[in-house]
Amino acid sequence: MNQDFDVNSAARNWRVQTTPSASPLEVVNDLFASDVLTLEQLKARLSKSAYKSLQGTVERGAQLDAGIADTVALAMKTWAMEKGATHYTHWFQPLTGSTAEKHDSFLNPAGDGVAIMSFSGKELIQAEPDASSFPSGGLRATFEARGYTAWDPSSPAFIVRHANGATLCIPSVFASWTGEALDLKTPLLRSIEALNSAVTPALELFGASAGTRVGSSLGAEQEYFLIAEEYYYRRPDLVMTGRTLFGAKPPRGQELEDHYFGAIPDRVLSFMTDAEMQLYALGIPVKTRHNEVAPGQFEIAPIFEHSNIAADHQQLIMQVLRTTARKYGLVCLMHEKPFAGVNGSGKHCNWSMATNAGENLLEPGDTPHENMQFLFFCTAVLKAVDTHQDLLRACVASASNDHRLGANEAPPAIISIFLGSELTDIFDRIVSGQGGSGKSAGLMGLGSSVLPEIPVHAGDRNRTSPFAFTGNKFEFRAVGSSQSISFPITVLNAIVADSVSELTADLKARLDAGLSLDDAVTEVVKSTYQKYQRIVFNGDGYSDAWHQEAEKERGLLNLRTTLDAIEHLNSEKNVGLFGRLGILNERELAARQEIMYDIYFKTVNIEGETTEYMAQTQILPAALNYLVDLGKVGSSRAAQGVTTEVSAAADELFDAIQALRTQNEALGGEEVHEKAHHMRDHVLPAMNDVRAAADKLEKVVSSKLWPLPTYRQMLFVK
Ligand code: ADP
Ligand code: MG
Repeated sequence: MNQDFDVNSAARNWRVQTTPSASPLEVVNDLFASDVLTLEQLKARLSKSAYKSLQGTVERGAQLDAGIADTVALAMKTWAMEKGATHYTHWFQPLTGSTAEKHDSFLNPAGDGVAIMSFSGKELIQAEPDASSFPSGGLRATFEARGYTAWDPSSPAFIVRHANGATLCIPSVFASWTGEALDLKTPLLRSIEALNSAVTPALELFGASAGTRVGSSLGAEQEYFLIAEEYYYRRPDLVMTGRTLFGAKPPRGQELEDHYFGAIPDRVLSFMTDAEMQLYALGIPVKTRHNEVAPGQFEIAPIFEHSNIAADHQQLIMQVLRTTARKYGLVCLMHEKPFAGVNGSGKHCNWSMATNAGENLLEPGDTPHENMQFLFFCTAVLKAVDTHQDLLRACVASASNDHRLGANEAPPAIISIFLGSELTDIFDRIVSGQGGSGKSAGLMGLGSSVLPEIPVHAGDRNRTSPFAFTGNKFEFRAVGSSQSISFPITVLNAIVADSVSELTADLKARLDAGLSLDDAVTEVVKSTYQKYQRIVFNGDGYSDAWHQEAEKERGLLNLRTTLDAIEHLNSEKNVGLFGRLGILNERELAARQEIMYDIYFKTVNIEGETTEYMAQTQILPAALNYLVDLGKVGSSRAAQGVTTEVSAAADELFDAIQALRTQNEALGGEEVHEKAHHMRDHVLPAMNDVRAAADKLEKVVSSKLWPLPTYRQMLFVK
């Protein structure tokens, strides 16, 4: 028997047949957040003073009082055991981009065959996993392997269930013994603080009440593919690299445009419902589900939340989708470009700023005061995005996202902002001093100019922009489907915090010089917009004309590949930015860059090796076997014609494999930067040549002999 079949049945023989269901009332009354230890839950389990102290930490960012740790730990343990948890783990986000967990049991022997369940404050606050196997980018030598996880009380603990039990997960940060961040969460939390510190002084100028705090809100739309498990395990490329390294274009792709928003197939809908039930229990407000553009592609989106919580929830969404798919004989592919020739997957990050009273600072509103404030913050975002195009590109850079960005159906690698015609018009009028649209009476005065009313839905939609204003938030669309959103949010918070600080200083200076608030804001908006206007582009981001214009006329960056982008990560400008805001020091930033180089190198290296292996041991033999078969009927004209075709393509494949092997062996140098460049400049092109020859063969070799499931099969079985 073909050994692949064994692998396949081995993978399939494990299947849980439970289909959760809950009535709408049950979801609302019992299920939602039932596996989350909310503040409300803790209130009932803690003394008044312990609760007050914890609340101060969670809601106002006050320093955690270590004195309450034991009581909180006891309450957590009791709650978790009631939920069926036997183990706990500090749940954190190392620099791999996924999450990490090391489970410890509550169980402790108490002598004479007796055991008790215990969990101390010390265990809650801190754990010390061996950090040497997590990437540190040189921040920690292996001989000083100590790394600490520390409880992050601002994100609630939760229960993760599996077929035979449950685990209490305690959201945590991860740092080296020198106090340097080794994770994605620490800088995210620092950036939220930085945003608060920058924005509240600005809000005070607009009359905000004392005690106002500001955070960022985030809603991430997750795209993914589902394919049948049967096919997945017969594709070493999918298993090893997450994407297909071979595959001829099927006769039908997405051109009929019949999949997007189409009726969701039954099997998929059952899967989605199952996943949603689990996500509800985790308190994740999943709202939207639909078919995406490519065949086999889908989307899930929750309602936005505070960005710290949203980042945790996003990781859980990916995890639940992946594990649940398996129950339905499906595999969930999160890769940015699992299939060539059809759309890739992104993760649009909808971002805004909001006060603790729930005021959205990017909501245009309809009173003069709100409008002025909105224009001020909107201008700050324009300035931030123009100044830090490099950072926005770098924070979404990965070997996998390179296949998507700049391809036909995804935002280009050039960062620009879509404002919509109406909002652009408003800025233009402020600049020209022309003022209002005269559409209606009651427009607010801003000194000499008259500010027009701002429509709530600022105009049309544009799907081609990497960064679009969509009514009351910005949508960052370049983020990749498989990546953690923590670093992109950190960058957004950081660049806007910095920009707001500068504009606030500008505004203050003008106020001190005696200008009215109206006049001062108008001047700040006007001069800033004039300076950064080039970042606004409302046209077709996919067009060649835009690429020309962006680079040549506007001088915008076009950082095509990951390596072009991450080179900028620790420029003087960026070291200054992150340092000034206390988000990442120079060493921490350099470590992140180093890890990005390393992951890029390793990812492409694995792809190169997998390509060589599959081409040599699966595809070439199929072609040669076919030639043997053809030889047996060699006299017919058809057989001779096919033989010529197949043997030409087989020779081409053979040569391409030799070339790839040479590049795979070369590595390009000792040092990770050299290796990364070698991968991009030599291995990827050599892989493409192998693929081209193999895909040619797929179209001429007998399908009975073809060793791999094809696009035609994988994308259309539902
Ligand atoms: P579309 O697919 O048209 O872009 P969706 O409605 O699918 O829009 O997704 C929009 C996302 O933006 C949702 O997650 C939504 O909760 C989120 N969102 C809405 N308002 C805000 C806001 N103020 N801040 C952050 N995210 C927001
Ligand atoms: Mg969207």
